[in-house]
This record gives sequence, structure tokens and C-alpha cells, in this order.
Amino acid sequence: MATDLTTPGTSAPAGSSAPPSTSAVPFDAWADRILDGGELTRDEAKQILESPDDDLLRLLSAGFRLRQQHFGKTVQLYFLMNAKSGLCPEDCHYCSQSKISEAPVPKYNILKRDALMDAAKVAAERGAKTYCLVISARGPNEREMKAVEEIVPEIKKQYGLDICACLGLLSKEQADRLKACGVDRVNHNLNTGEEYYAEICTTHTYADRVQTLRHVRDAGMEMCSGGIIGMGETYDDIISMAFDLKELGVQSIPLNFLNSIDGTPLEGKKDLSPQDCLRALAMFRFVNPSRELRISGGREIHLRTLQPLGLYVANSVFVGDYLTTKGQAPDEDYQMIKDLGFEVTTSVGE
Ligand code: SF4
Repeated sequence: MATDLTTPGTSAPAGSSAPPSTSAVPFDAWADRILDGGELTRDEAKQILESPDDDLLRLLSAGFRLRQQHFGKTVQLYFLMNAKSGLCPEDCHYCSQSKISEAPVPKYNILKRDALMDAAKVAAERGAKTYCLVISARGPNEREMKAVEEIVPEIKKQYGLDICACLGLLSKEQADRLKACGVDRVNHNLNTGEEYYAEICTTHTYADRVQTLRHVRDAGMEMCSGGIIGMGETYDDIISMAFDLKELGVQSIPLNFLNSIDGTPLEGKKDLSPQDCLRALAMFRFVNPSRELRISGGREIHLRTLQPLGLYVANSVFVGDYLTTKGQAPDEDYQMIKDLGFEVTTSVGE
């Protein structure tokens, strides 16, 4: 006769677990309020980051409502081109291209026209909406500015891609020149909260970064700015960054998960679970409901098999490789988007 495992006093069947530890955090009520034009408070943002894993689907479901209101089921693809690698005089602790990094990354000055055009062709073929032209630098020198001014109109004319330039700190005059040559958007990440900034970089300040974003905004370009989580910061630091991005009015927020690279000061740091990453993405969606939110570097190694869940709150991914690390094959991204029942939104004019 089979043993009745449900009899009081007997142990639970193998493989069963304790009842889920859910909380009473009212994610849906917050989403209702935001859908009606309200906002999330900092305290609520913290409750999201602190919520238990068993609440994750409830959280993503509420965040999905916000995503749907502004982006439906569309996914925007971005393509990164590291136009100049290594050789950077700054000391950002997470970065393999900094002067203090011993990571064996390629080192080259700004690429020639043909290489930049070839990459633009690949970006267009992969269905990317935006070509992100990145150089490793404190800020662009005159030669780099001229190279960008020359190539941007050509890429736009030939491939119709939006151009996002990531060139480091910019003066007002440089921002105006980028706008004049057709750059649509500038990426300049805040990276972490203001309080924590000095822990991850000593060669420039958080205020320097905010100033560059203001120059970009004043020049009439869109601002792309986000950060990296998993660098040892507190929840309050992450929340402070999310609210600063909201106050600055950035249009696009790339959220990276630290891919700790050997040879950098943050080597070996691996604090994030896939659930932590999903909660952070959801919190950014609740704080910045109408902003493009991109799952960026580190998604493959930290979200792993839970990557598709991230797209219930985020609406954008990079397709292809990152600056000095590999991304998953583009076909896997297209399959993931298709399997979710989402669709890639492409190119200018849509
Ligand atoms: S300024 Fe940019 S390229 Fe230079 S070390 Fe910092 S993140 Fe890396």
C-alpha cells in the first residue's frame, strides 16, 4: 500500500518545497497609478529591489503593462561599433580599456572610413535601428571629431540608420558640432549613483558626466544614459541613478550588468543573480515608464536562461558583440524575440 505522504506528521514528498514567500507589495496598484500619469516613489523603488524571488512574476506582469502602454510588443535593436579601442587615460574600474586595466583588449586608434562603413552595413543587415559609434576616450580630440563629422552623414545617407555617438565627455561646442553633422543621440552613462561614483572612477566626476548630458540636451540631441549594476553599490545608489536619469529626461536607458573582466579592479566580482537583474530592470521601467530601456552588457552571463523575461519590462537589446566582450549570436536574439511573440521594430521612418 502506498504511503499517504499528506498525513500530518509525515515529511513532505521529495522535491516539494516550502510555500512561496510572497510579499504584499502592490505592484499592480503602482502600475495603475503610473498608467494614470502618476509616479513611483523612491521608497517604492526600494521595495521592488528588495522583493522576494517568488514575487518576480507578479512584478514583471505589472511592469509589462507599463512597457505595453508605450512600446507594445516591439523590440528595438542596437548595434555597437567600437571605433577606437583601449588607450583610454581614464580609470573607470569596470572598464577593460582604462589606463589601469591589464586586460588584453585590442588597442587601436579611430578606425578608417571603410571599416566604419562595413560595420554600418552589418548593422543595417541585422535589422538594427541605431548604429552606436563608440570610442574609448576621456573625450574626443579634434581628429576624432572630424572623423565622426565625416562618417555620420555618409552612414545616414547610405543605410538610413540612426546614429548614437559615445565619445566621452563633451564640451558645449563639441555637442553642437555633433548635432550639426547629423548625430541623433549621444550615449554617456551615469554608470552608478552619485554617492558611489568616486568608488568606481577618480579621473572625472559624476558632475562632469551630468554636464555632458546637459550639453547634449541643449544641443537638441537625444540623451542615452544608463548604468552598470553589480559593482558593489547599494540599492539606494541604483535608485538614485534611476531618478537622476528621470530628472535629466534621458530618452534611452541602457542597463548593464557588470561583466567583471580579468585585469580590471573589479575582476572576480559576481554579485548578481538573474532575479536581481530582472528586479533592477523592472524598477527602471516603473521609474521611467515611457523611456526606452535596453538590456545591455552582461545580459548573457547574468540573466542566462531568464533573458526572455527581461523583455517583458525592457524593450531593447544590443544585437551582436559588446565593446570588448562577446554577445550571443544574433540568430538567438531573433529567435528569442519571435518565441516571445514580440517583433523587431526597425529603422528610421517607422
Ligand atoms: S572613459 Fe570610457 S573608455 Fe575610458 S576608461 Fe572610462 S568607460 Fe573606459
